Amino acid sequence: MLSPFAYIRAQSLEEAVQHLRTEGARVSAGGSDLLGCLRDEVFACSKMVSIAGLAQLKGVAQLPDGGVRIGALTPIAEVARHPIIAERYRALSQAAASVASPQLRNQGTIGGNICQRPRCWYFRGEFHCLRKGGNTCYAIAGENQYHAILGGDRCYIVHPSDTAPALLALDARVSIAGPRGTRTVPMDEFFVLPSTDITRETVIEPGEIVTEIQLPAPPAGLRSSYRKVRARRSWDFALAGVALALQIDGDRVTGGRVVLSGAAPVPWRSTEAEAVIRGSQLDTVTATRAAEAAMRDARPLMRNAYKVPLFKGLIEEELLAVGA
Ligand SMILES: Cc1cc2nc3c(=O)[nH]c(=O)nc-3n(C[C@H](O)[C@H](O)[C@H](O)COP(=O)(O)OP(=O)(O)OC[C@H]3O[C@@H](n4cnc5c(N)ncnc54)[C@H](O)[C@@H]3O)c2cc1C
Repeated sequence: MLSPFAYIRAQSLEEAVQHLRTEGARVSAGGSDLLGCLRDEVFACSKMVSIAGLAQLKGVAQLPDGGVRIGALTPIAEVARHPIIAERYRALSQAAASVASPQLRNQGTIGGNICQRPRCWYFRGEFHCLRKGGNTCYAIAGENQYHAILGGDRCYIVHPSDTAPALLALDARVSIAGPRGTRTVPMDEFFVLPSTDITRETVIEPGEIVTEIQLPAPPAGLRSSYRKVRARRSWDFALAGVALALQIDGDRVTGGRVVLSGAAPVPWRSTEAEAVIRGSQLDTVTATRAAEAAMRDARPLMRNAYKVPLFKGLIEEELLAVGA
């Protein structure tokens, strides 16, 4: 049973920002995550501000500098099948295609996907956990098989988005509109670890709206991919996932990023793995060393130690596949 709230269908971005000044107001894009949170009473909502009708926030467009702009309201399905994304930013296309089910990819937006709330069952359930203002992380001594092995600090959620790690690997930037105008934040600085602020997952302030995501022109020799392992093959969140965006010259990696999903409270950039592969050939020895390096700082909880070998195998296989 949903508690009552006011419903506004904004006619402009300015109107949406204005309405979001109300205490307890929430942005709704596709609503596929927000309505679940409200139904489960994860948080309250005094006013739902739907931005779904704002046409200027929809679609994929090429930028004059060779990059691409993706409006925040672009359906995940459209991102997955868009020919420019599929051809030039394969990691993002694969990540979007791996999100949930066809219905959810049609309803859910790319902006909503990177802003969705965590799936930790204690956070979503009737537990007054740390992230909801309580004083306990129930996952630490509880059912933590799906929780973080890296970057956890008092709270062990994993970031649920598949598109976010791909966007981070591809060095995307996020534009955010708010009461004080518009700002653009590199994806590297968009997500917030529990050690910085345990009550939120992104730098978005109350009243702000993600308007678009920009991808830079693909650098020379870019090869990118996203692969995730899930408990069942139909649809599910990542138990472990890896997004790669590597620049390869001849048989050597000259640069690029390795980002893990299902590992940490934020999409987790493995600078350790990146350091191993930079300047190297992507052979079995390098791939194994990179996978070991990525897991060196892993601190599993009681029930999720299986993630360490899972990640090692996944990273190794995917590096070899991209290098082939
Ligand atoms: C059964 C199920 C399975 C799923 N499986 C996966 C999966 O495998 N991989 C995966 O990545 N996701 C998965 N999801 C999550 C799904 O992808 C998200 O629900 C969807 O992407 C959210 O998009 P939306 O537009 O519906 O967001 P909404 O539900 O409208 O919003 C989600 C959150 O983001 C905020 N928000 C939305 N848009 C903006 C914006 N432009 N600016 C600021 N804040 C905003 C809202 O206030 C809300 O808090 C699954 C969801 C379900 C229900």
